[in-house]
Amino acid sequence: MSSTTPPTSRITPLVRGFLGQCPHCGGRGVFAGLNDLQPHCPTCRFSFVREEGYWLGSMIVIMALVLIIFGIWTVGGLLLTWPDVPWTMLTIVGVGLNILVPFTLYGWSKTIWVGLDLTFNPAQLEEFLPESPTDG
Ligand SMILES: [Zn+2]
Repeated sequence: MSSTTPPTSRITPLVRGFLGQCPHCGGRGVFAGLNDLQPHCPTCRFSFVREEGYWLGSMIVIMALVLIIFGIWTVGGLLLTWPDVPWTMLTIVGVGLNILVPFTLYGWSKTIWVGLDLTFNPAQLEEFLPESPTDG
């Protein structure tokens, strides 16, 4: 575990999660496609294989992201077009965003969730994949 950069403050894992980085070390390349994470961080080997039910938290995060993006869209559209608000367009695009956001940002919600978790429960040694003998 020589390549880890432990969080410098309590909020650092959450910030790194929001940036789509490994919440523990800030390393990149943690995504395995749009909606999934690698089994472990390629930099610090922090394991993203968690116990059953762990990712329920990332579903809460993605629901919050949907609400925030929908709110920004709706309120922003209202403020920018008042008094001739295009209700039909706002509604159709807003519903489209509510469908699109969970499918495109779910992986990101996972790094945010792990960051939130590490903010309150700092990483323990057993959460890292042991180095294999071939790693040098
Ligand atoms: Zn890492």
